[in-house]
Amino acid sequence: MSEIEVSNKPSPKRKLASRVRNVHMLILVLVLALVTATAAMIITDIASDASEELARFYSIEAVGRFSIHASQETALVRDVSRSAAIINWFADEENPAKKAAAFDEIMKYAGTLQSANVYFGINKSLNEYSINSGIPFADFIPFDKINPADAYNDWYYNCIRSTHEYAFNIDIDKVTKVPRFWINYKVMEDDNLVGVICSGIALDEMIDCLFSQYNTENVMGYIIDKNGFIQMDSAPSNFHFDEKGKPGNNIRAVCPDPVFVSAIDKYLTNIGDIFNMSSQAEVIKLNKNYYGYVSIAPVTNMDWSVVTFFNNGALYSIKKFFPLLIIMLSAFLIYMLASSIFMHWLVFRPVNHLTNSLSASNFYIGEIFGCNRDDEIGILAQTIQRMRDRLSTYNAELLRAARERERLIRIDQLTEIPNRRNFDERLPLEWGRAIRTKTPISILILDLDYFKDYNDTYGHLQGDKALQVIAKIFAQELKRTSDLVARWGGEEFAILLANTDFNGAYDVAERIREKVENLQIQVEGLVSKVTVSIGINCLIPTSNNLLEEFIHHADMALYTAKREGRNRVCLYNGVQL
Ligand code: GH3
Ligand code: MG
Ligand code: MG
Repeated sequence: MSEIEVSNKPSPKRKLASRVRNVHMLILVLVLALVTATAAMIITDIASDASEELARFYSIEAVGRFSIHASQETALVRDVSRSAAIINWFADEENPAKKAAAFDEIMKYAGTLQSANVYFGINKSLNEYSINSGIPFADFIPFDKINPADAYNDWYYNCIRSTHEYAFNIDIDKVTKVPRFWINYKVMEDDNLVGVICSGIALDEMIDCLFSQYNTENVMGYIIDKNGFIQMDSAPSNFHFDEKGKPGNNIRAVCPDPVFVSAIDKYLTNIGDIFNMSSQAEVIKLNKNYYGYVSIAPVTNMDWSVVTFFNNGALYSIKKFFPLLIIMLSAFLIYMLASSIFMHWLVFRPVNHLTNSLSASNFYIGEIFGCNRDDEIGILAQTIQRMRDRLSTYNAELLRAARERERLIRIDQLTEIPNRRNFDERLPLEWGRAIRTKTPISILILDLDYFKDYNDTYGHLQGDKALQVIAKIFAQELKRTSDLVARWGGEEFAILLANTDFNGAYDVAERIREKVENLQIQVEGLVSKVTVSIGINCLIPTSNNLLEEFIHHADMALYTAKREGRNRVCLYNGVQL
């Protein structure tokens, strides 16, 4: 019978700490993903609103700059075109006095014009003049004829055809080969057109001024005419003139998004009277693959418009999210680390200690870890300790009871000396030892004489008493601890004498026989007598000898003793001593 088994090395299949850590990680990743997604949605929303407003702002700003840049020059050209000296001379080109007056007038203005370069064509003669400030009067002569077939002269004819006093265009300066934004003003004598005068601002300068705020990566700006042809581009490298020297790109090609194309078509169709156009910008949200928003705003007093494409990326891109993500991730990791350390010290470490203190080596002796704690682990430890102590007591009691039972099944109940079972267990052991040590072993088989008669005479109970008294004598007479007496059965006994030869065995047998013979057993004031017959066998056994034979021979010796008159000792070899 052993104590309740406790695992030697308690090692759980699934460790609490790693499970908590995994669950913790999972929750953190989910929270991180949730926070990031929510933040991204909010920021995208804000960025989208801001983009819409910025698209509007950029185009209005460009319209404003356009007006500021062009208005002064336009006013100057208008003044020149309305100058009486110029009108007079345009109407009468051959008149030298009028020419001299017109020259002076033009020179006066030429110094103040941005371009310092004035062209004009006279309607009657189609003579074309190019005047720079500071040229001598002698050079004030036509340098070309305005030819309707030459596309370079569209400025002239477009202006004449215009329903307004003036017209704008962009082309390359014939003389300087620089692209310019031209302001063309009709010169009228009363209701008669006598010519067109024009001045051009360098296109590069104008674009620089108009689109200086534009970041070409995310904000693209265009000035388009009433047909959608791009007149100016915030990225000048994308701008080109066609073979006729005219701006060749159409805004629809820049952004083929159907949303934009239909919006610009509608917008351009609605361009009516340029003076009545509102300067409000129209902002349209584009499809995903294109820029986020486009804003279209009319340029004041023109049939041109500013188109601004605005990309949300200008405000918000995933890259800008990285620092936020890194900070959040770091914060979560720090939190994880700190909480892991806390959990380790507060929970897992004491639980581990508790588990280890329950290992088999010290389960029943050592103090269980945590009994003096005042938390849940303390309660757990105290409960386990109480259960362990109770278990320990039960175990001890069970052990005692089991040992007692073990003892009792080897004791004869009547005589309280070892029984046959005990004898049968011990005999083979001593037999084996005698073989190994080559020492003699003796067995005595004792049988009370005429005990049936004794019972018949004194009664069975008295017979039992006699058996008890005689068994006690047998036990007393055996001195060595290795000697064993047992009740063999009924009124028969057996004695095992290890390491004892015939002489020794005979001495013991004779002493016992005498003791029994001399015994006076009191029965109701009278004395009763019992004798015993003893058969002895002795041998230095070898492995060739049989134990059964050894016993049987002792039995035979007993039989001899009985036959020869009882109350005697007989050795197996038949010799009666
Ligand atoms: P012998 O000298 O030949 O041995 O004669 P005996 O009468 O002793 O032998 P027998 O075998 O005929 O009888 C044995 C008797 O021992 C029978 C029985 O009454 C008695 N006996 C056996 N066991 C007990 C016991 O436990 N208590 C009592 N009182 N008597 C017992
Ligand atoms: Mg008998
Ligand atoms: Mg007998």
